Amino acid sequence: MDRIYLDNAATTPLSACAAQAMAPYMQAGVQAPFGNANSLHGVGREAFSALEDARMRVSRALGASRPDEVVFTSGATEADNAALLGMALGQRERRRLKGRTGGHVVMSRVEHDAVLHCAAALKRLGFEVSFAENDAAGRVSPEALEAAMRDDTLLVSIMAVNNEVGTVMDTAALAAVAHKHDALFHVDAVQALGKIAFDVRALGVDAASFSAHKVGGPKGVGVLYLKTRTPFEPLLVGGGQERGLRSGTQNVAGIVGCAAAIEHAVREQAAFAQRTRAWRDELYERLCAHPSVHAAVEVARGDESFAPHIASVCVRGMESQTAILQLDMRGICVSGGSACSSNSLDPSHVLAAMGVPRNLAQGLLRVSFGEYTERAHIDAFISAFEEVVS
Ligand code: PLP
Repeated sequence: MDRIYLDNAATTPLSACAAQAMAPYMQAGVQAPFGNANSLHGVGREAFSALEDARMRVSRALGASRPDEVVFTSGATEADNAALLGMALGQRERRRLKGRTGGHVVMSRVEHDAVLHCAAALKRLGFEVSFAENDAAGRVSPEALEAAMRDDTLLVSIMAVNNEVGTVMDTAALAAVAHKHDALFHVDAVQALGKIAFDVRALGVDAASFSAHKVGGPKGVGVLYLKTRTPFEPLLVGGGQERGLRSGTQNVAGIVGCAAAIEHAVREQAAFAQRTRAWRDELYERLCAHPSVHAAVEVARGDESFAPHIASVCVRGMESQTAILQLDMRGICVSGGSACSSNSLDPSHVLAAMGVPRNLAQGLLRVSFGEYTERAHIDAFISAFEEVVS
């Protein structure tokens, strides 16, 4: 039985270009490019030049002004944590030097746990955290953000694309609201990269988080884009790598794969979006024709205010876990929202924030497309789905 993988928002298979770029680094022995990028000798310099080449390519693909605005991390969870805590601390100190007090951070209730759980850590550090209201699609409007802003707000973090239901936020407008109030703006752009046009400079953000494994790169590698002169206290301290912004010997093999995958995803973005948006529309139409199925969000045909690669529905009277396991028995991988909460029986915090009733939210199924998804997978999924829910 061929495996049909429709859970690309959780993770993606490696892109051929990433596998190829990493292959030399996976070889055994002293002739392989295994060096520590911080060593002075030739082996180290070889690793350093691979690292800096990757940094330059990532900075171009993201639209950064300079390569040193790219900080490599162990993934988007680390990038999110570093951004939230590091920027809040940095900006509070900068304001303190100007005689200003207080420290208020705004985020949304539909953030990934990697951002949401920073709220508790921020509170332990003496910050106040509040949430901008979202609508039934999980979208935060610039007006809603405006209403959440205070004189002492120093940081706003609102994701670009929701990972459970695909809602696209107006990142440029949200960043402008934050800046009007002299606050910094961070965006978790994990599900935006390679799916919608995304250029950090054009959007005017101060910081953005990305993850390699969501775009055909290896797991355990991510990027924090940090605009030059953004106040920031490093989360990881030690050897001073990444210009002191993130200590720890760099994972050169992973970073090289990350750069190849990000370049490829950005280059292919428009074609990918066009192809998958049509599948998304068809999937919603065919699934919602079923009496027990409701779309988690109202997505019109061709709708660009939702990501092209995600279709999320709620199946009435069936728990996500049951549907996922029954589909798995038929060789099809999908998820019940975020992979991180897939072991939990609690319905998604995103659907709760959108006002979806608990009994409906418990039947959430997320189908997400990637580079290797084919048209035929949609038909195979629909027929398996019909067996499972009938
Ligand atoms: N943010 C979003 C929106 C995500 O979808 C994910 C992945 O699940 C993350 C952050 C965390 O990324 P990573 O797995 O690289 O830590």
